[in-house]
Amino acid sequence: MRKNIVAGNWKMNKTLNEGIELAKELNDILSKNKPNCDVVIGTPFIHLAEVTKIVDKNIIGVSAQNCADKASGAYTGEVSAAMVKSTGADYVILGHSERRAYYGETDEILKNKVDLALENDLTPIFCIGEVLEERESEKHFDVVKSQIENGLFHLSSDEFSKIVLAYEPVWAIGTGKTASPEQAQEMHAFIRKTLAEKYGEEVADNTSILYGGSCKPSNAKELFANPDVDGGLIGGASLNAKDFHGIIVAFD
Ligand code: PEP
Repeated sequence: MRKNIVAGNWKMNKTLNEGIELAKELNDILSKNKPNCDVVIGTPFIHLAEVTKIVDKNIIGVSAQNCADKASGAYTGEVSAAMVKSTGADYVILGHSERRAYYGETDEILKNKVDLALENDLTPIFCIGEVLEERESEKHFDVVKSQIENGLFHLSSDEFSKIVLAYEPVWAIGTGKTASPEQAQEMHAFIRKTLAEKYGEEVADNTSILYGGSCKPSNAKELFANPDVDGGLIGGASLNAKDFHGIIVAFD
């Protein structure tokens, strides 16, 4: 059966000390109140090695927010999947809309990143989602389908079964505007059907599909109650341990 997952994406927030404090606070809360779902925190690269030492990895998984599309070499400023893995992290967020929009990450680049993440035994949390104009012109299903096909459908069924998907409508990220539970369910069911057509019902049923976009303690429960919504990728509300925990308990 697929896992329910609540994953935080800290983005470019928190100095090293602030990040350590946040990870400690969350670890304390979750050690006393065992979560009913998998919990992951996506920290900046420089925090990874410290944060993996602080948290109980049986309770909190640690994720990078990106990795390079090359294995190693003369790529100044880049961080490889192997480097991420060597910090003790087990996940990597790939294809976040901010990376696609601000850093020109194409499907072709993301394909390489996915391959390198899997080769290095990292679980990709692969983000997909349409912008507002695409939804308004009713292209959202086509857009999401092509992101999945172009970024992931080169994988074998075994490889694909290691992927976590995150549907993040770009118009809902950091805007305070959340997809309605019905909109989320409709898209998640479409994504699962797309996966079933390619990899079969079993792989599709076992794939965790997270929702992301202004998810908070007050709306998490109704979003996660949908049959095809298996948790969330959380930006703003993951920067505060109490808010993030308020989302995790939606699975209690
Ligand atoms: C995100 O960027 O992955 C995200 C979902 O952000 P927010 O929760 O702040 O909308």
